[in-house]
Amino acid sequence: MSIKKNLLRIKSTIPENVTLVAVSKTKPVADLMEAYDAGQRIFGENKIREMTEKWEQMPKDIQWHMIGHVQSNKVKFMAKYVNLIHGVDSLKLLAEINKQAQKHNRIIDCLLQIYIAEEESKFGLDEKELEEILHFIQNEKNGMQNTRIVGLMGMSTFTDNQNQIKKEFLHLKSIFDKIATKSTVEGSLKTKNCQFITLSMGMSGDYQLAIECGSTMVRIGSSIFGNR
Ligand SMILES: *Cc1c(COP(=O)(O)O)cnc(C)c1O
Repeated sequence: MSIKKNLLRIKSTIPENVTLVAVSKTKPVADLMEAYDAGQRIFGENKIREMTEKWEQMPKDIQWHMIGHVQSNKVKFMAKYVNLIHGVDSLKLLAEINKQAQKHNRIIDCLLQIYIAEEESKFGLDEKELEEILHFIQNEKNGMQNTRIVGLMGMSTFTDNQNQIKKEFLHLKSIFDKIATKSTVEGSLKTKNCQFITLSMGMSGDYQLAIECGSTMVRIGSSIFGNR
């Protein structure tokens, strides 16, 4: 199967209101260009250096998403162009993103990564830490005006147990809804830099389940580009 065929097949299974991030990590620019020529404009990478090399070589109407774990000292390399950072899991990292965004006079959109899996190896915030970060950025005195929290990201446990995965996705969705209500209906969280519109969950193996559970953004790699 060609990348183009894979992409179009996946797209046909995704509702219009769900955004597809084509996860192109480890793949050569030629592969990404095949997806680009088939209409794809959002790519996800998990290493800043690799993403930057691709950004330099590829058309400038591409939106680049950082989906991997980010080290604070590397934020500066992507601050001028990155469109969405999915894996923000500490206030320290968010503060660094804000600082680098300020230097480039931009606002960088971020998702807060929530820990939903049973595996200890996965990164992410718990609900208490999430509340703390939201509280912090809301206060204008803290000067976080160059970052915008647009939602949450989560990764389920690596397992074949669909019930387990579903439980984890629904858990994330419930946290998302709770905050989205605060930020829209109640208005208690309504600030310019906190707008809950994106729930990033679902990969090649579980994206359909994720969409059923309320995902608005899926990150799909191997089903488009083949195994890594
Ligand atoms: C690699 C990766 C994906 C894509 O995984 P596939 O199983 O290849 O679709 C999605 N999200 C994150 C955070 C990843 O690191």
